[in-house]
Amino acid sequence: MVTTIHDDIAEVLISEELLQARVRQLGKEISRDYEGKPLLLVGILKGAAVFLADLIRAIDVPADYDFVAISSYGNATRSSGVVDIKKDIDADLTGRHVLIVEDIVDTGWTLRLSYITEKLLARNAASVRICALLDKPSRREVDVDIDYRGFVIEDRFVVGYGLDLAGRYRNLPYIGVLKSDVCGDARNK
Ligand code: 5GP
Repeated sequence: MVTTIHDDIAEVLISEELLQARVRQLGKEISRDYEGKPLLLVGILKGAAVFLADLIRAIDVPADYDFVAISSYGNATRSSGVVDIKKDIDADLTGRHVLIVEDIVDTGWTLRLSYITEKLLARNAASVRICALLDKPSRREVDVDIDYRGFVIEDRFVVGYGLDLAGRYRNLPYIGVLKSDVCGDARNK
C-alpha cells in the first residue's frame, strides 16, 4: 500500500468542508468591508500561502496580493527583540488598504516583533488590518489585534492547509493533529 501524509494524522481538527465554508464567509465579510477601497492582501510566507490562495478567490471586490517572509522566532530572537523581514513588498503602498494574512497567531511574538503593521503604515498604506486563519488565544504572550479570524483552537500543534512540521504536511487539505510518534517535541510547542 502507498504511504501518504494522511497516515501520520491522529485527528482531523477542521475538515476541508468546514475550512472552505469559513473561508467563503470571511471572503464575503472582507468584500463588504473593503468595497471601494483598493485592497492588497499580504500573506506571511510560507504558512499563509494556501489560505491566501483560497481567501482571495472568495473576495469579489478588486484585490491584489503579495507576500512577506518573516524570520522564525526562537528564544534568542525573543530576548534580542528583533524579528527580521526577510522578503519585503516591492509595490508602492500609498493609499492602499492592506490586509495581513497569517496562518496562525500563537504567542503573538512574530507579528509584534516584526513591527509589520507599523512598517506598512510608515509606507503610507491607508489602513492595515490582520486576518488569521487560526487563533490560539490560550498561548498568547503579547496582544495582537486580529480583525478577521477563521477559527479559535485549543493549545495543540496542528498541521495542514499551509501549516507544516519541518516542511511536511502543508499540502493536507484539512487541519489535523499528528500522531504522537511523528510529532515529537512539536506537541509541546
Ligand atoms: P507566534 O509568533 O504567534 O507565536 O507564532 C506564529 C507562527 O508560529 C505561525 O506563523 C506558525 O508558523 C508557527 N506556529 C504556531 N503554532 C503552530 C502550530 O500549531 N502548528 C504549526 N505548524 N505552526 C505553528
